[in-house]
Amino acid sequence: MENSVRRIYLATGNAHKVREFQQLAASTGTPVEFVRPELMPVVVEDTGTFIGNARKKAMALKAVLPADAWVLADDSGLCVDALGGAPGVESAYYAGPAGDSAANLAKLVQDLRGVQTAQRGAHFLCVLLLIHETDREHVFEGRCTGHLLSEPRGASGFGYDPLFVPDDYQNTYAELDEPAKNRISHRGQAFAALSRLPPKIIGQGRFG
Ligand code: IMP
Repeated sequence: MENSVRRIYLATGNAHKVREFQQLAASTGTPVEFVRPELMPVVVEDTGTFIGNARKKAMALKAVLPADAWVLADDSGLCVDALGGAPGVESAYYAGPAGDSAANLAKLVQDLRGVQTAQRGAHFLCVLLLIHETDREHVFEGRCTGHLLSEPRGASGFGYDPLFVPDDYQNTYAELDEPAKNRISHRGQAFAALSRLPPKIIGQGRFG
């Protein structure tokens, strides 16, 4: 397996996330090929924690794949200071169980009406959980802090991207192109930690 590319299934049905991970692997030279599963089982994300939800998604996908398949699950969300950390782990379902991201964004705009600029701090969190054939797991975390605008701006990305301006930036996530977002994003930072795994792990399929 030395010098070969490790195939990893992504436990998500979100095409944007798949593209972000593929771009992250390419831009960091990580010898990994990310594959979107033909069928991602429906998972109720009800554990109340990012790591718990990531594990639930990873295990659900692993159960329908060959025993030696490698799986990476991501759970992420936006934590808003003025809302005591909400929507956090509930980010995908902030406006209701349908998981409508336009409705989620509109609800956040509404809930923050009247909140002053200085109180509009927020951060994105991402937990990545990698499971390989012996069901051992590795966990990585990434965070990106910034603030939220009062009106959405920008057309790329997904979810809450048009509202979030990372620290030291003028643009929202949705005004950055994918490589620029990936360099600083919560997902990019968690992935950077994953890509620092020793080559023998990624390349040969063995932990420790
Ligand atoms: P998950 O698929 O359960 O991890 O849900 C994460 C939710 O958090 C998404 O549906 C989005 O609402 C939000 N989210 C996570 N990462 C991002 C991002 O990079 N940009 C915008 N929204 C995000």
